[in-house]
Amino acid sequence: MSLIQTVQDLNLWLDNNGRHGKTVGFVPTMGYLHEGHLSLIRKAKEDNDIVVVSIFVNPTQFAPGEDFKEYPRNLERDYELSCEAGADMVFHPEVSEVYPSGATTAVEVTGSLTKTLCGLSRPTHFKGVTTVVTILLNMVRPDQVYFGQKDAQQALIIKKMIRDLWMPVKMIICPIVREEDGLAMSSRNVYLNAEERKQALNLYKSLQEGEKLVEEGVIAASKIVQAVRMYLERAPLAVIDYVELLDANTLEAVAEVYDDVLLAIAVKFGKTRLIDNKILKSKEERTCF
Ligand code: AMP
Repeated sequence: MSLIQTVQDLNLWLDNNGRHGKTVGFVPTMGYLHEGHLSLIRKAKEDNDIVVVSIFVNPTQFAPGEDFKEYPRNLERDYELSCEAGADMVFHPEVSEVYPSGATTAVEVTGSLTKTLCGLSRPTHFKGVTTVVTILLNMVRPDQVYFGQKDAQQALIIKKMIRDLWMPVKMIICPIVREEDGLAMSSRNVYLNAEERKQALNLYKSLQEGEKLVEEGVIAASKIVQAVRMYLERAPLAVIDYVELLDANTLEAVAEVYDDVLLAIAVKFGKTRLIDNKILKSKEERTCF
């Protein structure tokens, strides 16, 4: 396994490892890896001859005052874990390699996908994400790129960007990996103190509550959203950013649950902002199969 820091070395490595005639799978991450990331790497290894993992805490997707500086980092551990999960190369570029001085180009998906959920609370975030993903895809030039459903809105936005720009890569979205008790794995979970960690479980439980209502036949979005909010409010330290029920493909608001709606939540515990989501299907849809 190799640790590479420059695009020049990246290309040399890919050429030396016979990229031509082989498939390259790419897993972009910000590091501090957990089982969620590792599931992406394992899937990429199943699907491809060569797996490249990038570890890059991207400054442009953090707004001033957000946690760019504090974001947890542990390159040595990430390297080991990537290796164990099947990565062939870890790409860990400096900020100056990704954004050389004088670089002024950004890539932005406009329209409804970026104007809701995290796009409202973090208005500059997705432009940073789409810009860095474009740069990394151009650097690595993979056949397939892997993202997690944990960041459902990010996955939809990147899918749209790939389609709109005819980017020559196939995108694969992998399921959310959770802790044993249900909390979605996130590098930011380490910020939580013991009490916050305990209460953070209400994110998952509130999504289950929403799902339970749908199973019981409730389809009114307002009722489901209200029940999820009430569940979250049982955690005294939780500050709700949003609870939304949206079309799972367009992220437009829905009045009722039908096939594939996205129940998405964002909640702050102290300075830690956590997101989670669940795809819900109406009872009718589920009994059709
Ligand atoms: P990050 O390092 O947070 O930027 O995440 C890198 C990739 O891992 C993104 O595609 C995330 O959606 C994905 N990811 C993060 N957490 C999870 C999780 N719990 N389950 C599945 N994928 C995840």
